[in-house]
This record gives sequence, structure tokens and C-alpha cells, in this order.
Amino acid sequence: MRAMMLDAPRQPLRLAERPRPAPGPDEVLIQVRACAVCRTDLHIVDGELPDPKLPLILGHEIVGTIVEQGARVAGLSIGQRVGVPWLGWTCGACRYCRSGRENLCDQARFTGYTIDGGYAEYAVADHRFCFPLPDAYSDSAAAPLLCAGLIGYRSLRLAGEAERLGIYGFGAAAHIIAQVARWQGRRVFAFTRPGDTTTQQFARELGAVWAGDSTEPPPEELDAAIIFAPVGALVPAALRAVAKGGVVVCGGIHMSDIPAFPYAILWGERVVRSVANLTRQDGEEFLRIAPRVPVRVAIEPFALEAANDALTRLRQGQLQGAAVLTP
Ligand SMILES: [Zn+2]
Ligand SMILES: [Zn+2]
Repeated sequence: MRAMMLDAPRQPLRLAERPRPAPGPDEVLIQVRACAVCRTDLHIVDGELPDPKLPLILGHEIVGTIVEQGARVAGLSIGQRVGVPWLGWTCGACRYCRSGRENLCDQARFTGYTIDGGYAEYAVADHRFCFPLPDAYSDSAAAPLLCAGLIGYRSLRLAGEAERLGIYGFGAAAHIIAQVARWQGRRVFAFTRPGDTTTQQFARELGAVWAGDSTEPPPEELDAAIIFAPVGALVPAALRAVAKGGVVVCGGIHMSDIPAFPYAILWGERVVRSVANLTRQDGEEFLRIAPRVPVRVAIEPFALEAANDALTRLRQGQLQGAAVLTP
């Protein structure tokens, strides 16, 4: 099979011919139809996340068809379309797994990070972590739902009952979650890189009541804010924007250092928290909700061989919606 390989951090991916993987007893072999590109992939390429499997096939928003399955696989069938998310395996036995917090599992394995992912023609995945996908979505449109959607949804859930919701960084996750938030009756305030009027216009088209530069204060106080941009300086900015009791949710896996800030902007029971990974329950909930909204997914397609171009465009903030590789 063809695959785009990461040999070492801070190098471009390399197109390689690799043996097709064989599924283990609990695994399915999937012919990849589409794999979305996530900012986490960039953090792995840039060496900002520790200890990736190397060499590595990136990609944790995989849509494909099952072509082979191991002896212990149940509940899925050959020919079925499934999605494979970031959370690839958990131990089921640790303190976190036993308390409904498998996203924090000590032994967790992650697709496209500690196990090979979907920047390839085929991938294997543990069947217990595959999701059946709603029919309403094409393969390419379904792919970004699997991380931008799922982890975006967990971030939204942890923002609480906020009616006035700020979103900092309006990329793949934000464009999906803004639609869900609006459908839930919230008002969305979108913050972009200063001067990025194209993305601000995109946010308004998706229902944001206000869109502006991340350096500006919003026109009114917010009840919560989600930060998808990996920029630590946005944490004090968001704390200043939220009302008493407001929550600031950091939705990314990596962020630059957060500058020191006065206690006064945290005072008033404001909360700062991160979101780590996802649980399968988050995935099931979100995939039920997405077609009901219905969430429209903006994608920009790339050939598998063009994965480096997709990563560069993402790094430069030149994508509206999500880049999706199609082998
Ligand atoms: Zn991701
Ligand atoms: Zn565990």
C-alpha cells in the first residue's frame, strides 16, 4: 500500500510503499476512503508531542470500508463503513477507565500517534473504537467529524450551559461546533487571527452573531469560551472576556506557554480547564446529533501524496474548514 510516512519530527512526510497491515484478533482492516488532517498532526510533525511511534503513519480522522476482520471482532461486518478516531485503545482496568473517564486512561493508545493512522491506503483499528457513521455524510465530509467534531463536541459540553459562547481559533473544530452551539440556542462569538476578515465572514455565515480579531474584546461579556488555537496568550484574553462563573476551555492538545496574569481576572469563580482526548460516549452522542443539526462540513480535498501541502496550508491558517486526504 501507499502511505505517507513520518520518519522523524521536523521532516516532511515521505511517500512510501509499505506492506498492507494484517488485523489482529480484535482488529479490522480498513480500506481508507478519506482521512482528515488535524492540528494535532502538525504538533506531532513539529516534535511538540513526546514519543510518537516512529516511523509513523499520521491521521486520526479515518473513514473507510472494512475489508478483513480478526477472529474476536463482533458487531461489525465486511463492507461496512466505519470511522476511526484519535482514541485507539484503552486498558479498561485503570482508575480512569473504571470511572467513565477512558479519555484519561494511563495506557491509552492513540491513532496516528502511538499506533499507525490513516494517511495511507489501508489501516487497522481495534473494532471497539470504530464508529458506524451517519449515512447523510459522504466519506470526505464524515472524516472531520471524527476529531474536529468529537473533541470539539467534548469541549462544547465542558463549556457548560453558556448562552454567550466565545470561540478562539475558527478552523475545522470551530466551524463544526459553532453550528451545534447555534442549534442548541447559544450565541456564538468568533475570534480569529487579527485581520483575518475572510475567516470572520465564514464564521458569520455559519451563524456567529459577532466575529472579530482575537486582540479585541467581544461586544458583551461571554458565559464561556473555547480556545482551539494553540496560543497560550489567548487564555488571559479569554478570562478577561468571560463573566463571573465563566469557563475557559482549552480544546487543543498543545499550547504555547500561558503568560502570567493577575488573579483578578480568574477571581469571581472563573474556571480554566483543558480537554483531553475523547470517550466513546462523546463520539456516539456527537454522531447522533450531527445529522440532526444538520452540521455542514466544509472541506478542502487533497490527494494522499499532497499531505505535506495540506499540513503547510493548515500551519499558515489558509484553510476554511478541514483538509481531507483521499487515497
Ligand atoms: Zn485531532
Ligand atoms: Zn485505562
